[in-house]
Amino acid sequence: MIYFDNAATTQPFKEALETFNTTSEKYFYNTASIHQAGKNAAKLLETARKQILDLMYLPDYDLVFTSSATESNNIAILSTLRHKKQFGKTILTSELEHPSIVNVLAEMKDEGFIVKYIKTTSVGKIDLEDFKEKLDSDVIFVTTMSLNNIIGSVQPIEQMVKILEDYPKAHFHVDATQGIGKTDIDYKGVDTISISAHKFNGVKGTGGLFVKTLDNLHPVFYGGGHEYNVRSGTVNLPGITAMAKALRLTLNNARSVHKRLNDFNEQIRDAVKDLKSIKVQPKDAPYIVNMSFVGAKGEVVVNALSKRGILVSTTSACASRLAELNETLLALKNPGDVIEGSIRISMGHYTTQDDVDALVTALKSVYEELGDVLK
Ligand code: PMP
Repeated sequence: MIYFDNAATTQPFKEALETFNTTSEKYFYNTASIHQAGKNAAKLLETARKQILDLMYLPDYDLVFTSSATESNNIAILSTLRHKKQFGKTILTSELEHPSIVNVLAEMKDEGFIVKYIKTTSVGKIDLEDFKEKLDSDVIFVTTMSLNNIIGSVQPIEQMVKILEDYPKAHFHVDATQGIGKTDIDYKGVDTISISAHKFNGVKGTGGLFVKTLDNLHPVFYGGGHEYNVRSGTVNLPGITAMAKALRLTLNNARSVHKRLNDFNEQIRDAVKDLKSIKVQPKDAPYIVNMSFVGAKGEVVVNALSKRGILVSTTSACASRLAELNETLLALKNPGDVIEGSIRISMGHYTTQDDVDALVTALKSVYEELGDVLK
């Protein structure tokens, strides 16, 4: 099987798995235990925390370890908003967000908050002019992703930080889940930032929330007070040390991987450019190519590729807020048949030239097989 679904999850680095196993064997202790072994585990936890903060160039931030980006996003939104109610009611977000943002904001609407969507440019980025227009003194929360998981568009986070300097009441949250190792975004100035280890070749079940001012965060669920009393529950030290290892390897290799995937991205686009029923979405971060077999259903294309040993994903399945169709592709004003026929090809650290060659052959073969179905 040839894997092109790295935006869904990645294969862990061998080194990250080794770190996970070694920590599980030698430091299985509870980091909250006050005996010597617990203290040693707690020391390792703090070493990993500092390492991750330094690798992200956020040495003055705090980092709360969580189980996933879903959990980090939920904590950032629920914890902040419930304590900001008296200052305003408006939340600004993009049209491009993941369900772990969209569905929490839907809950917040039910609690009386107003959610406004910032417009999207034709290449899938937040429209900064519209952002500025929508900002006012009632805005208490702004949330966006750093890199879109459907087409790979990189968002103007640094510019948003700058714009928000005039709105100190507004908390700025960034869902950086897809962005790690794939952009050079400087997150300094952002109030909270979510990450998830399994998106950068770490182990599943480990995430983080970077926090500029810890005092602004309150527990969402209650327990023994771990992780600064923001996220109680026995700390997943093996997952965390593995995440630190995976982050280091990802960032060390980022440039060479970027270059290689950029080349692969061009090859894939080039291979389908003369196939008239294929529409390819704009390119930004090179690891994603989103293309539509117009006239066919994305699921049919995914299954046809899967039969040929190629694993990709649909994008229409990620719908949640607006309709059955994917929000990101809708925000880019794609017609229904383009959205329905879309697939997401996502590459990663382990993608090779042979994989790309096999993908290209399979795409052409599926195109031929679908024949008259295509428009
Ligand atoms: N945000 C984005 C942009 C994502 O792509 C994902 C994963 N699909 C998540 C959040 C949720 O991450 P996790 O699997 O760690 O909950």
